[in-house]
Amino acid sequence: MSPKIISQQSAYNDGLKFFFTGSPCARGHIAERYVSNGKCRECDSENNRRRYQRQTNRGKSLFELWPPRPDRVWRGPVCRSLARVRVNGVTLA
Ligand SMILES: [Zn+2]
Repeated sequence: MSPKIISQQSAYNDGLKFFFTGSPCARGHIAERYVSNGKCRECDSENNRRRYQRQTNRGKSLFELWPPRPDRVWRGPVCRSLARVRVNGVTLA
């Protein structure tokens, strides 16, 4: 059920919004393209989906995006000096 092949020029002449070459786009989609900018329709919808996800994620808190992992126990704020001591193998009294 692929659309019939129509060049950008003839689609433009017919006043259509999309044309179809039958050849894959840069990302391998075989889909209609916009007459206005030559962009692949599939790529465009993918971009829109990604933009939508970014926007919906914007309202979420960090807690929702990265929920705490049960296998990791929160041991309080990391102290840089303590971490350095541990790396060097030095134990403080
Ligand atoms: Zn594409």
